[in-house]
Amino acid sequence: MATSATGTPPVSAGAPDPKLIEDLVAANRILAQQGVVDGFGHVSARHDKDPQRFLLARSMAPALVTAADIIEFDLDGNAVNAEGRTVYLEIFIHGAIYKARPDVRSVVHSHSPSVIPFGATGANLRPIYHMSSFLGSGTPIFDIRKKAGMTDMLIRNNQLGADLASALGDHAVVLMRGHGSTAVGDSIPQAVFRAVYTETNARLQAEAGKIGPITFLDPEEAKLATATNNGVITRPWELWKRSVGKID
Ligand code: MN
Repeated sequence: MATSATGTPPVSAGAPDPKLIEDLVAANRILAQQGVVDGFGHVSARHDKDPQRFLLARSMAPALVTAADIIEFDLDGNAVNAEGRTVYLEIFIHGAIYKARPDVRSVVHSHSPSVIPFGATGANLRPIYHMSSFLGSGTPIFDIRKKAGMTDMLIRNNQLGADLASALGDHAVVLMRGHGSTAVGDSIPQAVFRAVYTETNARLQAEAGKIGPITFLDPEEAKLATATNNGVITRPWELWKRSVGKID
């Protein structure tokens, strides 16, 4: 993991809102239940007390995350309170995106399977229905080989994190060739919503393509549908949250 220049941990922003921790723990379990993450993948939230800090579980399977597993980090990936706990190798995805995108308050990184063929072929992932209208602004593909040559495909340092954030630009989702994808949102529920419906859209788009030519949402339809969806994200969120049981 990254270490700070002084070798001492950065100062804590203080205790986050307990509701934020509860939602972050719920997001971990929801993403596992929805098939977006498995033993791998992670979800973070920007700290509510300091935009220069974010919260992410220690390195573990998301379905097993509890409040006690959440660690605070600065945007370079330095842990404030790791206390011997190991951190995800790809922590740098999160801080780099929070640095580049002040509007983003939650980041989901996954290897959700239906999305992989799009990153690998370069086929354009586009909104096939209204639930995935947030894809309407485009889904860039990050190819790590073009930036770093031969690697193990992981975002292992801040430079690769910055390159990924640059590829994401102002979009909702960036595909990662030969690896996975990363979705962002202005809240935990929105980032989770986008990660779930990116996976569903990829599956439906591949299926529809076998049947016949696809009429995708027009960019204007996508814009209008996104405005509607943003007003009702709490509906699936409350359902998903209840379905993962009591958060401890
Ligand atoms: Mn990964």
